[in-house]
Amino acid sequence: MTTANTPVRTRFAPSPTGYLHLGGARTALFSWAYAHRFGGTFVLRIEDTDVERSTPEAVQAIIDGMQWLGLHHDEGPFYQMKRMDRYREVLAQMLAQGTAYYCYSSPEEVEAMRERQRAAGDKPRYDGTWRPEAGKTLPAIPADRKPVVRFKNPLDGDVTWDDVVKGTITISNREMDDLVIARPDGTPTYNFCVVVDDWDMKITHVIRGDDHVNNTPRQINILKALGGTLPLYGHVPMILGADGEKLSKRHGAVSVMDYPAQGYLPEAMLNYLARLGWSHGDEEVFSMEQFCGWFDLDHLSKSPAQFNQEKLAWLNNHYIKLADNARLEKLVRPLLEKEGAQLDGAPSLELTIGLLKERANTVNDIAAAVMMFYRQPAPDAALLAQHVTDAIKPVLQDFAARCATVEWKKDALAPMIKEVLAEHKLKMPQLAMPLRLLVAGQLQTPAIDVVLELFGREVVLERLKKGLA
Ligand code: GLU
Repeated sequence: MTTANTPVRTRFAPSPTGYLHLGGARTALFSWAYAHRFGGTFVLRIEDTDVERSTPEAVQAIIDGMQWLGLHHDEGPFYQMKRMDRYREVLAQMLAQGTAYYCYSSPEEVEAMRERQRAAGDKPRYDGTWRPEAGKTLPAIPADRKPVVRFKNPLDGDVTWDDVVKGTITISNREMDDLVIARPDGTPTYNFCVVVDDWDMKITHVIRGDDHVNNTPRQINILKALGGTLPLYGHVPMILGADGEKLSKRHGAVSVMDYPAQGYLPEAMLNYLARLGWSHGDEEVFSMEQFCGWFDLDHLSKSPAQFNQEKLAWLNNHYIKLADNARLEKLVRPLLEKEGAQLDGAPSLELTIGLLKERANTVNDIAAAVMMFYRQPAPDAALLAQHVTDAIKPVLQDFAARCATVEWKKDALAPMIKEVLAEHKLKMPQLAMPLRLLVAGQLQTPAIDVVLELFGREVVLERLKKGLA
C-alpha cells in the first residue's frame, strides 16, 4: 500500500459547519492511525470556505473533539480561508496554461441551457460555449459581466482509480462537465481548494466518507491537470443507526463531544469507532497502540457499519474497570458537586468509585452509584415500613451496640454480623436490608460489611440511632 520512499501523509479535512460527528471522528481516526502505522504525518485542515455555514464554534468543536480523543495532528490546523492567495495563484496558472478558462455565461443562460437539455432528455451540463478549442471563435465578451472560471475537463476517456475501500471505480469523462472552480467574485470553489491543498500538503492517502465519491473523479482530473501525483483514495461507507438509516440526531448523540458529557471515556470511543467498518480477526477490545500496529486499508468494510449503543456501553464499562480510580475521581467529582453532594468528611471518592465502578457503563453511572455516600439518606417510607419492622428493631439495637466497640474494618464487621444473625436466628437479608435502608437510604448496595466500613463508625451509629428513635 505504501513504499518506503514515499512518506505517508494523511489528512482530516472537516468543514466547520456543526459539531464533530461520529462519522467524521472515525475517518479522522483511520487517517491518524494510518499515518502512525507508517511513521507518517497526519494533517488537520479546516475547510472553512463556506463562509455562510462555517463558525468559530464549530472549529472549536472539532479541535475539542480531536483533543478529547487524543487524535493529535502533526501539521496544521490549516485554514482554507487563509490560503486564498495560493488558490488564486493556481487559478492564474491554470488560466495561463489553458487547463481552465473564463466562462461569461450568466446563471440565467446556464439555467436555460440546462432546461433545453432536460427537455431533450439529455443530462444537464455546461455546453462549452466559452470553452476554448483550436480554431474555435469564442463569443464576444458581454459588457459588465464577471466571469466564472471553469476547469477544462477532458472530453473523452475515463477516470479510473483503485479505491482502497470500494475497489476500482471508473467514471467516463463524458459524465462530467466543466466544473466551476472560481466564482464571479474570484473565490475558489470547494473541489478546487481540496485539490490544491491535497497537492500542496503532499497527501498520499485520502480517507474520507463515501459521500465524497462523486467529487473524486473531478478532483483527479484537476490534480492531473496540475501535474500532481495522485494520492490513494479510500471512501469509507457511512455509519448507520440501528434501524439501518443514516446516523442522525434521531438516533441519539451524534456529536463526539456529547459522549464525554454522558460519561464515556475516550479510549472506549476510539476502540468502538475503530471497529466500525474495520476489523482485525476477532479482536474487539484493543488499545490505540495495538490499533496503530494493525490498521491497514485492506480490512475496511465495503458495507456501511451500524451504530450499536450497547456495544459502546459495554466497551465503556470495560475501560472504566481498567481506569485508574484517581482519574475517574476527577471526572466524577464535578458531577457530584453539581448534584450538591457533601464531599467533606465523607468516605474517600477513590474508594467508593473503586467499589462501585464494576457495573457502571458510564462515568455518570458511577456518580449516581456513589452518591449514596455523599448525601443524607432519605429512604422511602413504604420500604422502611416493610424492612425496619418492630421485630427487627431490637436486633438493630444489638447490632448498633456491637458497632460501638468492634474494630472498624470489614474483616471484623463480617464475623460480627454473622454472630448477630446466628444469635437472633435470622438470614442475612433480614438484617442487611434494614441496615442498607437506614445507613445508605436504599436497598441496593455492594456487600454490607464493605459499605459499612466505608461509611465509617460514626455515621453508621448516628444513622442507626436516628432510624431507631
Ligand atoms: N470538508 C469535507 C467534509 O467535511 C471533507 C473533504 C475531504 O475529506 O476531502 O465533508
